[in-house]
Amino acid sequence: MHCLICPKCCELEVNEDKVVGAGCRRGEGFARQELVMPKRVITTTIWCDTISDRLKIPVKTCEAIPLADIRLVMRDIRSIVIKSKPYVGQILNDIGRYSLEVRLLVAVQLASNLPFSFH
Ligand code: SF4
Repeated sequence: MHCLICPKCCELEVNEDKVVGAGCRRGEGFARQELVMPKRVITTTIWCDTISDRLKIPVKTCEAIPLADIRLVMRDIRSIVIKSKPYVGQILNDIGRYSLEVRLLVAVQLASNLPFSFH
């Protein structure tokens, strides 16, 4: 398996109880987590409808989500529409009916004239 924590993407092997090939300690934890319950951070967008704009807001989950739950969480995220522009780094945790407890982090600074703004 490849470690997905940083762009170095080390190739990891698990031999009995040892993890081989990790360039740092985090790789060992990643390999062990992958064997027990693989998880991923979701990066996606949600809609923001204001009086004057319809924007797509880049967000990511604050925590890694078990692979088995990603479809369920994405279904809920797709239904989210917020009514005011969030700021970068804002945590959106009161926006809805998540099937799981998931918090979203606004990932990118918004500008009013970005191409993903619809009028
Ligand atoms: S093992 Fe460490 S250095 Fe290698 S990809 Fe993972 S985080 Fe990066």
